[in-house]
Amino acid sequence: MKKDKTYLICPCCKKAKHNTEVRTMSKLLKKLSNPKKEHGYIPIISNFHSNNIEDDGWACDECLDRVWTEPADPYAQLFLDHPPYFFYYDSKRKCEKCEAEYIFSISEKRFWYEELKFWVQSKPKHCIPCRKEVRQQKQDNKRLSELLEGFDKLTIIELEEIIQIYSRMNKEEKVKYYHAVLKKKKPRRSDSNQDH
Ligand SMILES: [Zn+2]
Ligand SMILES: [Zn+2]
Repeated sequence: MKKDKTYLICPCCKKAKHNTEVRTMSKLLKKLSNPKKEHGYIPIISNFHSNNIEDDGWACDECLDRVWTEPADPYAQLFLDHPPYFFYYDSKRKCEKCEAEYIFSISEKRFWYEELKFWVQSKPKHCIPCRKEVRQQKQDNKRLSELLEGFDKLTIIELEEIIQIYSRMNKEEKVKYYHAVLKKKKPRRSDSNQDH
């Protein structure tokens, strides 16, 4: 029987690897786990053995040879219950919205964990186009509630903006309704034009 602790699932190739096949990581951990050196390195060791392939901050020796990786800076990352990234490599992920496969890239990872200081266990849920769409939807909702607060004194430009937002949301009824409101507003402008 395989003992869990001597076999780790490499989060890069997803294969079970014996202790002797993860030498680079083991060496690195030994160096970092000196308790005098820095805080927080003891939990890493135990979690490194948790076989959670979502913790994709390391790779087996074979992957480190075969796959393009870049060293990460654990000290620049925010972590507690999950081990930090020791290496970055492009990870394949599935979008929770459109289910397309996308790459969480080396440069994105470095930016997320070392610049933006996101917790190491937080991962993008969506592919880049869906992330843009979600962001747009949030912006639209916010802008829409701002506009509708002043419903009584909406200008023509604001009404046109509302129509644009509702068409992006595919809300045909609302689009129709605000077109009608807009129509009622517009003749008044042409009436006043006729006065001149
Ligand atoms: Zn591997
Ligand atoms: Zn997507």
